[in-house]
Amino acid sequence: MGPMSEVIPQTRALVLFSGGQDSSVCLAWALARHGHVETVGFDYGQRHSVEMEQRSVVLGAIRARFPQWADRLGEDHVLDLRGFGAVGETAMTEERAFEVTEKGLPNTFVPGRNLVFLTYAAALADRRKLQFLVGGMCETDFSGYPDCRRDTLEALEKALNMGMAQDFVVETPLMWLTKAQTWGLAQDLGGEELVQLILEDSHTCYRGARGDRHDWGHGCGDCPACDLRAKGWREWVAAGRPGIGA
Ligand code: ZN
Repeated sequence: MGPMSEVIPQTRALVLFSGGQDSSVCLAWALARHGHVETVGFDYGQRHSVEMEQRSVVLGAIRARFPQWADRLGEDHVLDLRGFGAVGETAMTEERAFEVTEKGLPNTFVPGRNLVFLTYAAALADRRKLQFLVGGMCETDFSGYPDCRRDTLEALEKALNMGMAQDFVVETPLMWLTKAQTWGLAQDLGGEELVQLILEDSHTCYRGARGDRHDWGHGCGDCPACDLRAKGWREWVAAGRPGIGA
């Protein structure tokens, strides 16, 4: 194991945790390097509560199955952002078909969502004395959401630090990884036990379907989020389940 297995006892982090595959891997990444880790989720009027339910399932499973991390995993926070969700009015919160907008973005894009999430997270982190803000934003293999780009997040980090007189660090461990490599990172961090936990308990499907258990996990199997997850899993398996050497 490389440097990411060395915990820095005095660092305190807040993970933006939705219960999805990406944020579950981010949580493990943070637990493998920070001395104290808290989680925050956002209720913005998602169409399905499955996502919120799976957050608790993943947190419980990590506490139960990863004793080396359990004592560093602190409070979970859920912030009510339904007012913001109502402004967005996109496919994430309303019953509407998935389509691509005139800007070339899927209509699942909630304008500025990550900007708002990180601003709320920073306000919470200020109160909880948490310096590192960890999120699963990713430029690779993704739908081109402009608020997931590293440039955007660096600008926001600067704005948050100026506006709150703080020294936050926005960490995005998945930024340059493909979905297949994200599975490799999970394996590097927590072995097969973590891969199985994320496979079984994390939730990614836009439609909130849990019923079917595919080789890549639960989900409806034909929304863009399921497609991406299935493709990443199959690529990783086909490549012989490599680690990323982290
Ligand atoms: Zn789906």
